[in-house]
Amino acid sequence: MKITIASGKGGTGKSTVAANLAYTLARSREVVLVDCDVEEPNLHLFFPAPAVDVPVTTPVPEIDPASCTLCGECGKFCRFGALSVLKDRVLVFPELCHSCGGCVLVCPQGAVREIPRTVGRVACSRPLPALTLISGVLNEGEVQAPTVIKAAKMLAEGHPLTLYDASPGIACPVIETLEGSDVCVLVTESTPFGLHDLRLAAEVAERVGIGAGVVINRSDGQDEATLGFYRERGLPILMTIPFSREIAAVQNRGGLICRDLPGWEEQFADLFSEIVKIAGVSL
Ligand code: SF4
Ligand code: SF4
Repeated sequence: MKITIASGKGGTGKSTVAANLAYTLARSREVVLVDCDVEEPNLHLFFPAPAVDVPVTTPVPEIDPASCTLCGECGKFCRFGALSVLKDRVLVFPELCHSCGGCVLVCPQGAVREIPRTVGRVACSRPLPALTLISGVLNEGEVQAPTVIKAAKMLAEGHPLTLYDASPGIACPVIETLEGSDVCVLVTESTPFGLHDLRLAAEVAERVGIGAGVVINRSDGQDEATLGFYRERGLPILMTIPFSREIAAVQNRGGLICRDLPGWEEQFADLFSEIVKIAGVSL
Protein backbone atom coordinates (compact mmCIF):
# COMPACT_ATOMS: atom_id res chain seq x y z
CA MET A 1 0.00 0.00 0.00
CA LYS A 2 1.20 3.49 -0.85
CA ILE A 3 0.07 6.38 1.35
CA THR A 4 0.69 10.03 0.46
CA ILE A 5 0.66 12.59 3.24
CA ALA A 6 -0.07 16.02 1.77
CA SER A 7 -1.23 19.49 2.76
CA GLY A 8 -2.44 22.52 0.88
CA LYS A 9 0.09 24.78 2.57
CA GLY A 10 3.31 24.59 4.53
CA GLY A 11 3.54 24.53 8.30
CA THR A 12 0.50 22.36 8.99
CA GLY A 13 2.52 19.55 10.57
CA LYS A 14 2.41 17.22 7.55
CA SER A 15 5.93 15.87 8.08
CA THR A 16 5.25 15.43 11.79
CA VAL A 17 2.24 13.25 11.00
CA ALA A 18 4.26 11.28 8.43
CA ALA A 19 7.14 10.72 10.88
CA ASN A 20 4.86 9.65 13.74
CA LEU A 21 2.89 7.31 11.51
CA ALA A 22 6.09 5.76 10.13
CA TYR A 23 7.55 5.30 13.60
CA THR A 24 4.37 3.65 14.90
CA LEU A 25 4.10 1.30 11.93
CA ALA A 26 7.79 0.38 12.11
CA ARG A 27 7.22 -1.00 15.62
CA SER A 28 5.38 -3.94 14.09
CA ARG A 29 6.31 -4.17 10.39
CA GLU A 30 8.69 -3.07 7.65
CA VAL A 31 7.99 0.47 6.41
CA VAL A 32 9.60 2.68 3.80
CA LEU A 33 9.22 6.42 4.37
CA VAL A 34 9.96 8.56 1.33
CA ASP A 35 10.60 12.29 1.75
CA CYS A 36 9.22 13.73 -1.51
CA ASP A 37 9.42 17.33 -0.25
CA VAL A 38 12.66 17.51 -2.24
CA GLU A 39 13.13 21.29 -2.00
CA GLU A 40 13.11 21.16 1.80
CA PRO A 41 13.39 17.57 3.00
CA ASN A 42 13.29 17.37 6.79
CA LEU A 43 12.33 13.82 7.80
CA HIS A 44 15.99 12.99 8.44
CA LEU A 45 15.81 15.39 11.39
CA PHE A 46 13.32 13.03 13.08
CA PHE A 47 15.41 9.98 12.16
CA PRO A 48 19.12 10.85 12.20
CA ALA A 49 21.24 8.01 10.79
CA PRO A 50 24.15 7.60 8.36
CA ALA A 51 22.88 7.69 4.77
CA VAL A 52 24.09 6.43 1.41
CA ASP A 53 23.69 8.99 -1.41
CA VAL A 54 22.68 8.10 -4.96
CA PRO A 55 23.00 10.95 -7.51
CA VAL A 56 19.96 11.82 -9.62
CA THR A 57 20.73 12.84 -13.17
CA THR A 58 18.65 14.03 -16.08
CA PRO A 59 19.59 14.26 -19.77
CA VAL A 60 20.35 17.71 -21.20
CA PRO A 61 21.48 18.63 -24.71
CA GLU A 62 25.03 19.14 -25.90
CA ILE A 63 25.55 20.68 -29.33
CA ASP A 64 28.24 19.49 -31.73
CA PRO A 65 29.44 22.76 -33.32
CA ALA A 66 31.05 20.86 -36.22
CA SER A 67 27.65 19.49 -37.38
CA CYS A 68 25.42 22.45 -36.41
CA THR A 69 24.36 24.70 -39.31
CA LEU A 70 22.70 27.24 -36.96
CA CYS A 71 19.34 26.60 -38.63
CA GLY A 72 17.51 27.65 -35.46
CA GLU A 73 15.06 24.72 -35.28
CA CYS A 74 16.08 23.62 -31.79
CA GLY A 75 15.74 27.15 -30.39
CA LYS A 76 12.27 27.52 -31.94
CA PHE A 77 11.17 24.18 -30.51
CA CYS A 78 12.33 24.66 -26.91
CA ARG A 79 9.50 26.37 -25.04
CA PHE A 80 11.52 26.57 -21.85
CA GLY A 81 14.11 28.98 -23.24
CA ALA A 82 16.91 26.50 -22.63
CA LEU A 83 18.43 26.98 -26.12
CA SER A 84 19.39 30.18 -27.82
CA VAL A 85 20.68 30.08 -31.40
CA LEU A 86 23.08 32.97 -32.04
CA LYS A 87 24.83 33.96 -35.25
CA ASP A 88 27.89 31.90 -34.47
CA ARG A 89 26.82 29.26 -31.91
CA VAL A 90 24.02 27.70 -29.91
CA LEU A 91 23.87 28.55 -26.23
CA VAL A 92 22.52 25.89 -23.86
CA PHE A 93 21.07 26.82 -20.46
CA PRO A 94 20.96 23.40 -18.80
CA GLU A 95 19.27 24.64 -15.64
CA LEU A 96 16.21 25.65 -17.72
CA CYS A 97 16.04 22.36 -19.62
CA HIS A 98 13.11 20.03 -18.79
CA SER A 99 14.71 17.05 -20.57
CA CYS A 100 11.88 16.58 -23.05
CA GLY A 101 14.31 15.35 -25.73
CA GLY A 102 12.59 17.46 -28.40
CA CYS A 103 15.69 19.31 -29.57
CA VAL A 104 17.40 16.00 -30.37
CA LEU A 105 14.42 15.01 -32.52
CA VAL A 106 14.01 18.28 -34.42
CA CYS A 107 17.68 18.83 -35.29
CA PRO A 108 18.01 18.04 -39.01
CA GLN A 109 21.80 17.62 -38.72
CA GLY A 110 21.90 15.22 -35.79
CA ALA A 111 24.02 17.82 -34.02
CA VAL A 112 22.33 17.45 -30.61
CA ARG A 113 23.20 14.68 -28.21
CA GLU A 114 22.16 14.19 -24.61
CA ILE A 115 24.53 14.16 -21.68
CA PRO A 116 23.64 13.48 -18.01
CA ARG A 117 23.41 16.40 -15.61
CA THR A 118 23.12 15.95 -11.83
CA VAL A 119 20.06 17.75 -10.42
CA GLY A 120 19.91 16.21 -6.97
CA ARG A 121 20.40 13.07 -4.94
CA VAL A 122 18.51 10.43 -3.05
CA ALA A 123 19.75 9.66 0.47
CA CYS A 124 18.93 6.21 1.90
CA SER A 125 19.24 5.30 5.55
CA ARG A 126 18.02 2.72 8.04
CA PRO A 127 17.29 4.68 11.24
CA LEU A 128 15.23 1.93 12.92
CA PRO A 129 15.35 -1.87 12.58
CA ALA A 130 12.19 -1.89 10.42
CA LEU A 131 12.26 1.62 8.95
CA THR A 132 13.97 2.65 5.72
CA LEU A 133 14.14 6.38 5.04
CA ILE A 134 14.58 7.58 1.46
CA SER A 135 15.00 11.34 1.10
CA GLY A 136 14.93 13.13 -2.23
CA VAL A 137 17.11 16.24 -2.27
CA LEU A 138 16.92 18.74 -5.15
CA ASN A 139 20.10 20.76 -5.76
CA GLU A 140 19.74 24.48 -5.12
CA GLY A 141 18.53 26.44 -8.15
CA GLU A 142 17.29 23.36 -10.03
CA VAL A 143 13.73 23.15 -11.37
CA GLN A 144 13.33 19.42 -11.86
CA ALA A 145 11.74 18.46 -8.55
CA PRO A 146 9.58 15.74 -10.22
CA THR A 147 12.74 14.01 -11.52
CA VAL A 148 14.15 13.68 -8.00
CA ILE A 149 10.76 12.61 -6.60
CA LYS A 150 10.47 9.94 -9.29
CA ALA A 151 13.97 8.64 -8.45
CA ALA A 152 13.17 8.53 -4.71
CA LYS A 153 9.89 6.69 -5.32
CA MET A 154 11.59 4.25 -7.67
CA LEU A 155 14.00 3.19 -4.91
CA ALA A 156 11.00 2.33 -2.71
CA GLU A 157 9.18 0.49 -5.49
CA GLY A 158 7.97 -3.05 -4.76
CA HIS A 159 7.77 -2.55 -1.00
CA PRO A 160 4.41 -3.56 0.53
CA LEU A 161 4.06 -0.47 2.75
CA THR A 162 5.34 2.94 1.69
CA LEU A 163 4.60 6.43 3.01
CA TYR A 164 5.24 9.42 0.76
CA ASP A 165 5.62 12.82 2.43
CA ALA A 166 4.62 15.32 -0.32
CA SER A 167 5.69 18.94 -0.72
CA PRO A 168 3.20 21.51 0.56
CA GLY A 169 0.91 23.04 -2.05
CA ILE A 170 -0.72 21.62 -5.14
CA ALA A 171 1.94 22.05 -7.85
CA CYS A 172 3.63 19.44 -10.09
CA PRO A 173 5.74 17.88 -7.31
CA VAL A 174 2.57 16.97 -5.40
CA ILE A 175 0.96 15.40 -8.49
CA GLU A 176 4.15 13.40 -9.07
CA THR A 177 4.08 12.20 -5.45
CA LEU A 178 0.40 11.25 -5.60
CA GLU A 179 0.91 9.24 -8.79
CA GLY A 180 0.40 5.54 -7.99
CA SER A 181 -0.75 6.16 -4.39
CA ASP A 182 -3.66 4.20 -2.93
CA VAL A 183 -4.75 6.86 -0.48
CA CYS A 184 -4.02 10.47 0.48
CA VAL A 185 -3.95 11.84 4.02
CA LEU A 186 -4.51 15.60 4.03
CA VAL A 187 -3.09 17.41 7.04
CA THR A 188 -4.67 20.75 7.90
CA GLU A 189 -5.31 23.28 10.60
CA SER A 190 -8.86 24.46 11.17
CA THR A 191 -8.18 28.09 10.28
CA PRO A 192 -9.61 29.99 7.27
CA PHE A 193 -6.21 29.76 5.51
CA GLY A 194 -5.94 26.08 6.31
CA LEU A 195 -9.41 25.42 4.93
CA HIS A 196 -8.76 27.37 1.73
CA ASP A 197 -5.59 25.42 0.97
CA LEU A 198 -7.08 22.12 2.04
CA ARG A 199 -9.92 22.71 -0.44
CA LEU A 200 -7.38 22.92 -3.26
CA ALA A 201 -5.43 19.90 -2.07
CA ALA A 202 -8.64 17.86 -1.77
CA GLU A 203 -9.53 18.79 -5.36
CA VAL A 204 -6.14 17.59 -6.57
CA ALA A 205 -6.55 14.22 -4.83
CA GLU A 206 -10.08 13.94 -6.27
CA ARG A 207 -8.87 14.68 -9.81
CA VAL A 208 -6.07 12.15 -9.53
CA GLY A 209 -8.78 9.70 -8.40
CA ILE A 210 -7.36 8.87 -4.98
CA GLY A 211 -9.44 8.38 -1.83
CA ALA A 212 -8.58 10.89 0.90
CA GLY A 213 -9.14 11.64 4.57
CA VAL A 214 -8.17 14.50 6.86
CA VAL A 215 -5.98 14.90 9.91
CA ILE A 216 -6.71 18.14 11.80
CA ASN A 217 -3.58 19.36 13.52
CA ARG A 218 -3.28 21.90 16.33
CA SER A 219 -7.04 21.88 16.83
CA ASP A 220 -8.37 24.42 19.33
CA GLY A 221 -11.65 22.52 19.52
CA GLN A 222 -13.44 25.19 17.46
CA ASP A 223 -13.46 23.17 14.25
CA GLU A 224 -17.17 23.49 13.35
CA ALA A 225 -16.61 25.91 10.45
CA THR A 226 -14.28 23.52 8.70
CA LEU A 227 -16.07 20.30 9.61
CA GLY A 228 -18.94 21.39 7.33
CA PHE A 229 -16.56 21.42 4.37
CA TYR A 230 -15.30 17.91 5.11
CA ARG A 231 -18.86 16.59 5.41
CA GLU A 232 -19.90 18.29 2.17
CA ARG A 233 -16.92 16.74 0.32
CA GLY A 234 -17.35 13.34 1.96
CA LEU A 235 -13.88 13.61 3.52
CA PRO A 236 -13.61 11.57 6.71
CA ILE A 237 -11.75 13.02 9.70
CA LEU A 238 -9.14 10.40 10.46
CA MET A 239 -7.56 12.01 13.49
CA THR A 240 -7.54 15.25 15.47
CA ILE A 241 -4.37 16.42 17.20
CA PRO A 242 -5.17 19.12 19.75
CA PHE A 243 -3.18 22.26 20.26
CA SER A 244 -1.28 21.64 23.50
CA ARG A 245 1.92 22.95 25.02
CA GLU A 246 3.03 19.42 25.78
CA ILE A 247 2.75 18.34 22.13
CA ALA A 248 4.34 21.58 20.90
CA ALA A 249 7.29 21.09 23.28
CA VAL A 250 7.95 17.58 21.93
CA GLN A 251 7.68 18.76 18.34
CA ASN A 252 9.86 21.82 18.90
CA ARG A 253 12.74 19.67 20.03
CA GLY A 254 12.30 17.39 16.98
CA GLY A 255 10.70 14.59 19.00
CA LEU A 256 7.88 12.22 18.11
CA ILE A 257 4.68 12.37 20.14
CA CYS A 258 3.98 8.69 19.50
CA ARG A 259 7.30 7.83 21.18
CA ASP A 260 7.51 10.56 23.81
CA LEU A 261 3.93 10.98 25.02
CA PRO A 262 1.65 8.24 26.37
CA GLY A 263 -1.35 7.16 24.25
CA TRP A 264 -0.18 8.58 20.92
CA GLU A 265 1.27 5.39 19.51
CA GLU A 266 -2.20 3.84 19.85
CA GLN A 267 -3.77 6.90 18.20
CA PHE A 268 -1.44 6.63 15.22
CA ALA A 269 -2.14 2.89 15.01
CA ASP A 270 -5.85 3.80 14.84
CA LEU A 271 -5.07 6.38 12.15
CA PHE A 272 -3.48 3.62 10.10
CA SER A 273 -6.60 1.42 10.48
CA GLU A 274 -8.72 4.29 9.16
CA ILE A 275 -6.34 4.81 6.23
CA VAL A 276 -6.53 1.12 5.33
CA LYS A 277 -10.34 1.37 5.24
CA ILE A 278 -10.21 4.27 2.76
CA ALA A 279 -7.59 2.56 0.59
CA GLY A 280 -9.70 -0.61 0.48
CA VAL A 281 -6.58 -2.76 0.21
CA SER A 282 -5.39 -5.67 2.32
CA LEU A 283 -1.86 -5.92 3.65
S1 SF4 B 1 15.48 18.72 -24.07
FE1 SF4 B 1 13.55 19.86 -24.33
S2 SF4 B 1 13.61 21.34 -22.68
FE2 SF4 B 1 15.69 20.60 -22.88
S3 SF4 B 1 16.68 22.02 -24.24
FE3 SF4 B 1 15.89 20.36 -25.50
S4 SF4 B 1 13.86 21.06 -26.18
FE4 SF4 B 1 14.49 22.37 -24.46
S1 SF4 C 1 18.58 22.33 -34.79
FE1 SF4 C 1 20.60 21.39 -34.91
S2 SF4 C 1 21.57 22.35 -36.66
FE2 SF4 C 1 19.84 23.62 -36.14
S3 SF4 C 1 20.69 25.15 -34.73
FE3 SF4 C 1 19.94 23.50 -33.46
S4 SF4 C 1 21.72 22.18 -33.16
FE4 SF4 C 1 22.19 23.52 -34.89
